[in-house]
Amino acid sequence: MMEGSTHPKVVVALALAPALLDMLVDCDLTFVAPDGSEEDRLKSALADADGVLVNSNVAVDRDAMTSAPGLRVISTMSVGLDHIDLEAAAERGIVITNTPVLSDAVADLTMALMTMLSRRLPQAMRAVATGGWAVPLGGDLAGKVLLLVGFGRIGRAVATRAKAAGMRVTYVDPMDRLPVVAGVDRVDGLAAALPDADFVSLHVDLNAGTRGLMGRPEFALMKPTAFFVNTSRGGVVDQSALTSAVTEGGIAGAGLDVLQDEPPLPDDPLLKDPNVIIVPHIGSATTETRQAMARCAVDNLLMVLRGAGEPFVVVPSPNAGA
Ligand code: NAD
Repeated sequence: MMEGSTHPKVVVALALAPALLDMLVDCDLTFVAPDGSEEDRLKSALADADGVLVNSNVAVDRDAMTSAPGLRVISTMSVGLDHIDLEAAAERGIVITNTPVLSDAVADLTMALMTMLSRRLPQAMRAVATGGWAVPLGGDLAGKVLLLVGFGRIGRAVATRAKAAGMRVTYVDPMDRLPVVAGVDRVDGLAAALPDADFVSLHVDLNAGTRGLMGRPEFALMKPTAFFVNTSRGGVVDQSALTSAVTEGGIAGAGLDVLQDEPPLPDDPLLKDPNVIIVPHIGSATTETRQAMARCAVDNLLMVLRGAGEPFVVVPSPNAGA
Protein backbone atom coordinates (compact mmCIF):
# COMPACT_ATOMS: atom_id res chain seq x y z
CA MET A 1 0.00 0.00 0.00
CA MET A 2 1.21 3.53 -0.81
CA GLU A 3 2.22 5.88 1.98
CA GLY A 4 -0.41 8.58 2.63
CA SER A 5 -3.10 7.49 0.17
CA THR A 6 -4.41 4.26 -1.30
CA HIS A 7 -4.70 5.90 -4.73
CA PRO A 8 -1.94 8.44 -5.19
CA LYS A 9 -2.45 10.83 -8.05
CA VAL A 10 0.22 10.48 -10.72
CA VAL A 11 0.70 12.63 -13.81
CA VAL A 12 2.14 10.63 -16.71
CA ALA A 13 4.01 12.74 -19.28
CA LEU A 14 5.65 9.69 -20.88
CA ALA A 15 4.54 7.15 -23.48
CA LEU A 16 4.39 3.94 -21.43
CA ALA A 17 3.96 0.36 -22.64
CA PRO A 18 0.86 -1.48 -21.33
CA ALA A 19 2.94 -3.60 -18.92
CA LEU A 20 4.29 -0.45 -17.26
CA LEU A 21 0.82 1.11 -17.07
CA ASP A 22 -0.28 -2.11 -15.31
CA MET A 23 2.36 -1.44 -12.65
CA LEU A 24 0.56 1.86 -11.94
CA VAL A 25 -2.82 0.20 -11.47
CA ASP A 26 -3.09 1.46 -7.87
CA CYS A 27 -2.58 5.06 -8.98
CA ASP A 28 -5.06 7.60 -10.22
CA LEU A 29 -3.49 8.61 -13.58
CA THR A 30 -3.68 11.82 -15.62
CA PHE A 31 -1.96 11.83 -19.01
CA VAL A 32 -0.12 14.82 -20.47
CA ALA A 33 1.71 14.95 -23.84
CA PRO A 34 5.28 13.66 -23.50
CA ASP A 35 6.72 16.18 -25.99
CA GLY A 36 6.54 19.18 -23.67
CA SER A 37 3.78 20.85 -25.72
CA GLU A 38 1.18 20.92 -22.91
CA GLU A 39 2.80 23.17 -20.32
CA ASP A 40 -0.52 24.54 -19.01
CA ARG A 41 -2.17 21.11 -18.82
CA LEU A 42 0.86 19.81 -16.93
CA LYS A 43 0.57 22.64 -14.41
CA SER A 44 -3.12 22.11 -13.79
CA ALA A 45 -2.68 18.31 -13.60
CA LEU A 46 0.06 18.76 -11.00
CA ALA A 47 -2.25 20.76 -8.69
CA ASP A 48 -3.32 17.69 -6.72
CA ALA A 49 -0.61 15.24 -7.82
CA ASP A 50 1.60 13.13 -5.56
CA GLY A 51 4.01 12.17 -8.33
CA VAL A 52 4.87 12.88 -11.95
CA LEU A 53 6.66 10.92 -14.66
CA VAL A 54 8.47 13.05 -17.25
CA ASN A 55 11.23 12.89 -19.83
CA SER A 56 13.77 15.57 -20.77
CA ASN A 57 11.30 17.28 -23.14
CA VAL A 58 8.95 18.14 -20.29
CA ALA A 59 10.13 21.06 -18.17
CA VAL A 60 9.18 21.10 -14.49
CA ASP A 61 10.00 24.62 -13.35
CA ARG A 62 9.51 26.53 -10.11
CA ASP A 63 6.06 27.71 -11.25
CA ALA A 64 4.90 24.16 -11.90
CA MET A 65 6.09 23.11 -8.44
CA THR A 66 4.44 26.12 -6.79
CA SER A 67 1.13 24.98 -8.25
CA ALA A 68 1.71 21.44 -6.88
CA PRO A 69 1.65 21.60 -3.08
CA GLY A 70 1.28 17.83 -2.61
CA LEU A 71 3.99 16.79 -5.10
CA ARG A 72 6.39 14.30 -3.51
CA VAL A 73 8.33 12.89 -6.45
CA ILE A 74 9.43 13.90 -9.94
CA SER A 75 10.61 10.77 -11.73
CA THR A 76 12.41 11.63 -14.94
CA MET A 77 13.16 9.09 -17.66
CA SER A 78 16.58 10.63 -18.35
CA VAL A 79 19.95 11.12 -16.74
CA GLY A 80 20.11 14.86 -17.47
CA LEU A 81 18.21 17.06 -15.04
CA ASP A 82 18.46 20.44 -16.77
CA HIS A 83 14.68 20.43 -17.48
CA ILE A 84 13.91 20.43 -13.74
CA ASP A 85 14.43 23.31 -11.28
CA LEU A 86 16.52 21.38 -8.74
CA GLU A 87 16.68 24.24 -6.25
CA ALA A 88 12.89 24.67 -6.19
CA ALA A 89 12.48 20.91 -5.69
CA ALA A 90 14.97 20.83 -2.81
CA GLU A 91 13.24 23.79 -1.11
CA ARG A 92 9.93 21.92 -1.24
CA GLY A 93 11.32 18.53 -0.22
CA ILE A 94 10.33 17.02 -3.59
CA VAL A 95 12.38 13.92 -4.38
CA ILE A 96 13.85 13.73 -7.89
CA THR A 97 14.86 10.42 -9.43
CA ASN A 98 16.56 9.65 -12.75
CA THR A 99 17.43 6.60 -14.87
CA PRO A 100 21.20 6.04 -15.14
CA VAL A 101 20.81 2.86 -17.20
CA LEU A 102 21.83 4.31 -20.56
CA SER A 103 25.60 4.75 -20.39
CA ASP A 104 26.40 1.92 -22.84
CA ALA A 105 24.01 3.26 -25.48
CA VAL A 106 25.44 6.81 -25.28
CA ALA A 107 29.01 5.50 -25.24
CA ASP A 108 28.32 3.38 -28.34
CA LEU A 109 26.97 6.44 -30.17
CA THR A 110 30.01 8.49 -29.11
CA MET A 111 32.36 5.87 -30.58
CA ALA A 112 30.24 5.73 -33.74
CA LEU A 113 30.49 9.51 -34.19
CA MET A 114 34.26 9.46 -33.65
CA THR A 115 34.66 6.64 -36.16
CA MET A 116 32.40 8.31 -38.72
CA LEU A 117 34.37 11.54 -38.43
CA SER A 118 37.83 10.01 -38.62
CA ARG A 119 36.97 7.61 -41.46
CA ARG A 120 34.99 10.28 -43.35
CA LEU A 121 31.98 8.00 -43.60
CA PRO A 122 29.43 10.71 -44.52
CA GLN A 123 31.70 11.88 -47.37
CA ALA A 124 32.19 8.25 -48.50
CA MET A 125 28.45 7.56 -48.43
CA ARG A 126 27.69 10.76 -50.35
CA ALA A 127 30.36 9.89 -52.92
CA VAL A 128 28.84 6.44 -53.57
CA ALA A 129 25.28 7.82 -53.63
CA THR A 130 26.32 10.24 -56.38
CA GLY A 131 28.11 7.63 -58.52
CA GLY A 132 31.62 8.08 -57.10
CA TRP A 133 33.93 5.45 -55.67
CA ALA A 134 36.89 7.41 -54.23
CA VAL A 135 37.33 9.55 -51.14
CA PRO A 136 40.39 11.03 -49.41
CA LEU A 137 42.06 8.88 -46.75
CA GLY A 138 40.68 8.94 -43.23
CA GLY A 139 42.58 8.51 -39.96
CA ASP A 140 42.99 5.76 -37.36
CA LEU A 141 41.52 5.89 -33.88
CA ALA A 142 44.40 3.77 -32.56
CA GLY A 143 47.20 5.90 -31.16
CA LYS A 144 45.10 9.08 -31.03
CA VAL A 145 44.52 11.10 -27.87
CA LEU A 146 40.91 11.23 -26.70
CA LEU A 147 40.02 13.90 -24.13
CA LEU A 148 36.87 13.13 -22.16
CA VAL A 149 35.36 16.26 -20.62
CA GLY A 150 33.52 14.67 -17.70
CA PHE A 151 34.50 11.30 -16.29
CA GLY A 152 31.19 10.16 -14.85
CA ARG A 153 29.21 7.08 -15.89
CA ILE A 154 29.13 7.83 -19.62
CA GLY A 155 32.67 9.23 -19.79
CA ARG A 156 33.97 6.03 -18.19
CA ALA A 157 31.91 3.83 -20.56
CA VAL A 158 33.48 5.69 -23.50
CA ALA A 159 36.94 5.25 -21.95
CA THR A 160 36.49 1.45 -21.88
CA ARG A 161 35.62 1.39 -25.57
CA ALA A 162 38.30 3.89 -26.61
CA LYS A 163 41.01 1.94 -24.79
CA ALA A 164 39.90 -1.22 -26.61
CA ALA A 165 40.26 0.73 -29.87
CA GLY A 166 43.86 1.57 -28.94
CA MET A 167 43.29 5.23 -28.13
CA ARG A 168 45.23 7.16 -25.45
CA VAL A 169 42.51 8.32 -23.08
CA THR A 170 42.69 11.44 -20.90
CA TYR A 171 40.01 13.27 -18.95
CA VAL A 172 39.21 16.46 -17.06
CA ASP A 173 36.69 16.43 -14.25
CA PRO A 174 36.70 18.59 -11.11
CA MET A 175 35.14 15.88 -8.92
CA ASP A 176 37.31 14.35 -6.19
CA ARG A 177 37.58 10.63 -5.63
CA LEU A 178 36.71 9.47 -9.14
CA PRO A 179 37.56 5.83 -9.79
CA VAL A 180 41.13 5.26 -10.97
CA VAL A 181 40.98 3.50 -14.34
CA ALA A 182 44.14 1.83 -15.62
CA GLY A 183 45.44 3.43 -18.79
CA VAL A 184 43.37 6.61 -18.39
CA ASP A 185 45.16 9.82 -17.36
CA ARG A 186 43.63 12.72 -15.50
CA VAL A 187 44.67 16.22 -16.66
CA ASP A 188 44.23 19.30 -14.49
CA GLY A 189 42.09 21.78 -16.35
CA LEU A 190 40.55 22.01 -19.80
CA ALA A 191 43.06 24.60 -21.07
CA ALA A 192 45.96 22.26 -20.32
CA ALA A 193 44.26 19.25 -21.89
CA LEU A 194 42.77 20.64 -25.13
CA PRO A 195 45.99 21.30 -27.12
CA ASP A 196 47.04 17.62 -26.98
CA ALA A 197 43.71 16.08 -27.93
CA ASP A 198 42.89 14.54 -31.31
CA PHE A 199 39.29 14.00 -30.19
CA VAL A 200 37.40 16.01 -27.55
CA SER A 201 34.18 14.43 -26.29
CA LEU A 202 31.77 16.07 -23.82
CA HIS A 203 30.15 14.06 -21.00
CA VAL A 204 29.21 16.68 -18.41
CA ASP A 205 25.83 17.57 -17.00
CA LEU A 206 24.38 20.95 -18.05
CA ASN A 207 24.18 23.36 -15.14
CA ALA A 208 25.10 26.98 -14.44
CA GLY A 209 28.77 25.99 -14.13
CA THR A 210 29.00 24.06 -17.41
CA ARG A 211 26.81 26.26 -19.65
CA GLY A 212 29.02 27.50 -22.51
CA LEU A 213 32.01 25.50 -21.18
CA MET A 214 33.30 25.10 -24.75
CA GLY A 215 33.55 28.64 -26.14
CA ARG A 216 35.86 30.56 -28.49
CA PRO A 217 38.95 30.38 -26.24
CA GLU A 218 38.52 26.62 -25.80
CA PHE A 219 38.01 25.86 -29.52
CA ALA A 220 41.06 28.05 -30.25
CA LEU A 221 43.14 25.69 -28.10
CA MET A 222 42.16 22.63 -30.16
CA LYS A 223 44.37 21.33 -32.99
CA PRO A 224 43.10 22.13 -36.51
CA THR A 225 43.18 18.35 -37.12
CA ALA A 226 41.08 17.53 -34.02
CA PHE A 227 37.46 16.39 -33.96
CA PHE A 228 34.82 17.52 -31.47
CA VAL A 229 31.96 15.31 -30.26
CA ASN A 230 29.01 16.31 -28.09
CA THR A 231 26.54 13.74 -26.77
CA SER A 232 25.87 15.62 -23.50
CA ARG A 233 23.72 18.76 -23.89
CA GLY A 234 23.74 21.54 -26.49
CA GLY A 235 23.96 24.25 -23.82
CA VAL A 236 27.44 23.10 -22.76
CA VAL A 237 28.72 24.53 -26.05
CA ASP A 238 28.71 28.10 -27.37
CA GLN A 239 27.29 27.04 -30.72
CA SER A 240 28.36 30.16 -32.61
CA ALA A 241 31.95 29.53 -31.43
CA LEU A 242 31.69 25.92 -32.61
CA THR A 243 30.27 27.06 -35.97
CA SER A 244 33.18 29.48 -36.48
CA ALA A 245 35.74 26.86 -35.43
CA VAL A 246 34.44 24.22 -37.82
CA THR A 247 33.63 26.46 -40.80
CA GLU A 248 36.90 28.41 -40.59
CA GLY A 249 39.13 25.33 -40.24
CA GLY A 250 39.97 25.82 -36.56
CA ILE A 251 38.99 22.17 -36.00
CA ALA A 252 38.58 19.28 -38.47
CA GLY A 253 34.95 18.43 -37.78
CA ALA A 254 32.23 17.79 -35.24
CA GLY A 255 29.79 15.00 -34.36
CA LEU A 256 26.72 16.31 -32.54
CA ASP A 257 23.83 14.44 -30.93
CA VAL A 258 22.65 17.56 -29.10
CA LEU A 259 22.28 21.19 -30.17
CA GLN A 260 21.40 24.56 -28.76
CA ASP A 261 17.98 24.35 -30.53
CA GLU A 262 16.46 20.92 -31.10
CA PRO A 263 15.49 20.60 -33.88
CA PRO A 264 17.89 23.19 -35.35
CA LEU A 265 16.62 26.16 -37.35
CA PRO A 266 16.57 25.27 -41.08
CA ASP A 267 19.21 27.90 -41.90
CA ASP A 268 21.67 26.75 -39.22
CA PRO A 269 25.06 26.72 -41.02
CA LEU A 270 26.10 23.55 -39.16
CA LEU A 271 23.46 21.63 -41.14
CA LYS A 272 25.27 22.29 -44.41
CA ASP A 273 28.87 21.83 -43.28
CA PRO A 274 30.38 18.69 -44.85
CA ASN A 275 32.59 18.14 -41.80
CA VAL A 276 29.70 18.11 -39.33
CA ILE A 277 27.56 15.10 -38.48
CA ILE A 278 24.30 15.85 -36.68
CA VAL A 279 21.97 13.18 -35.31
CA PRO A 280 18.66 13.93 -33.58
CA HIS A 281 19.42 13.41 -29.86
CA ILE A 282 19.51 9.62 -30.13
CA GLY A 283 22.08 8.92 -27.41
CA SER A 284 19.79 6.54 -25.51
CA ALA A 285 17.58 5.62 -28.46
CA THR A 286 17.86 1.84 -28.57
CA THR A 287 14.92 -0.45 -27.90
CA GLU A 288 16.64 -2.16 -24.97
CA THR A 289 17.81 1.05 -23.33
CA ARG A 290 14.54 2.94 -23.73
CA GLN A 291 12.65 -0.04 -22.26
CA ALA A 292 15.06 -0.19 -19.33
CA MET A 293 14.75 3.59 -18.77
CA ALA A 294 10.94 3.51 -18.79
CA ARG A 295 10.89 0.58 -16.36
CA CYS A 296 13.43 2.32 -14.14
CA ALA A 297 11.37 5.56 -14.13
CA VAL A 298 8.20 3.72 -13.06
CA ASP A 299 10.08 1.69 -10.44
CA ASN A 300 11.65 4.88 -9.04
CA LEU A 301 8.27 6.62 -8.79
CA LEU A 302 6.60 3.70 -7.04
CA MET A 303 9.50 3.17 -4.63
CA VAL A 304 9.34 6.80 -3.52
CA LEU A 305 5.54 6.77 -3.18
CA ARG A 306 5.67 3.50 -1.23
CA GLY A 307 8.63 4.58 0.87
CA ALA A 308 10.38 1.30 0.12
CA GLY A 309 13.24 0.13 -2.08
CA GLU A 310 16.24 1.94 -3.49
CA PRO A 311 15.24 4.42 -6.18
CA PHE A 312 17.93 6.38 -8.11
CA VAL A 313 17.49 9.57 -6.08
CA VAL A 314 19.30 12.71 -7.26
CA VAL A 315 17.59 15.30 -5.05
CA PRO A 316 16.67 13.71 -1.74
CA SER A 317 13.85 14.99 0.40
CA PRO A 318 15.19 16.48 3.64
CA ASN A 319 12.55 14.31 5.39
CA ALA A 320 13.64 11.13 3.65
CA GLY A 321 15.97 9.99 6.45
CA ALA A 322 19.24 8.30 5.53
P1 NAD B 1 27.49 11.74 -14.44
O1 NAD B 1 26.83 12.63 -13.43
O2 NAD B 1 27.79 10.34 -14.08
O3 NAD B 1 28.85 12.41 -14.96
C1 NAD B 1 28.98 13.78 -15.23
C2 NAD B 1 30.41 14.15 -14.88
O4 NAD B 1 30.69 15.46 -15.36
C3 NAD B 1 30.67 14.17 -13.35
O5 NAD B 1 31.74 13.31 -13.01
C4 NAD B 1 30.99 15.63 -13.07
O6 NAD B 1 31.92 15.80 -12.01
C5 NAD B 1 31.57 16.05 -14.40
N1 NAD B 1 31.65 17.50 -14.56
C6 NAD B 1 30.81 18.45 -14.08
N2 NAD B 1 31.26 19.67 -14.41
C7 NAD B 1 32.41 19.48 -15.12
C8 NAD B 1 33.33 20.37 -15.74
N3 NAD B 1 33.18 21.70 -15.68
N4 NAD B 1 34.39 19.84 -16.39
C9 NAD B 1 34.58 18.49 -16.45
N5 NAD B 1 33.73 17.60 -15.86
C10 NAD B 1 32.66 18.10 -15.22
O7 NAD B 1 26.54 11.81 -15.70
P2 NAD B 1 26.49 10.79 -16.94
O8 NAD B 1 25.53 9.69 -16.64
O9 NAD B 1 27.86 10.45 -17.34
O10 NAD B 1 25.78 11.74 -18.03
C11 NAD B 1 26.42 12.94 -18.45
C12 NAD B 1 25.44 13.80 -19.22
O11 NAD B 1 25.16 13.21 -20.48
C13 NAD B 1 24.06 13.94 -18.57
O12 NAD B 1 24.02 14.94 -17.57
C14 NAD B 1 23.18 14.27 -19.74
O13 NAD B 1 23.03 15.67 -19.89
C15 NAD B 1 23.92 13.71 -20.93
N6 NAD B 1 23.17 12.62 -21.56
C16 NAD B 1 22.85 12.72 -22.87
C17 NAD B 1 22.15 11.69 -23.47
C18 NAD B 1 21.79 11.76 -24.94
O14 NAD B 1 20.77 11.22 -25.31
N7 NAD B 1 22.61 12.37 -25.76
C19 NAD B 1 21.76 10.57 -22.74
C20 NAD B 1 22.13 10.49 -21.41
C21 NAD B 1 22.82 11.53 -20.82
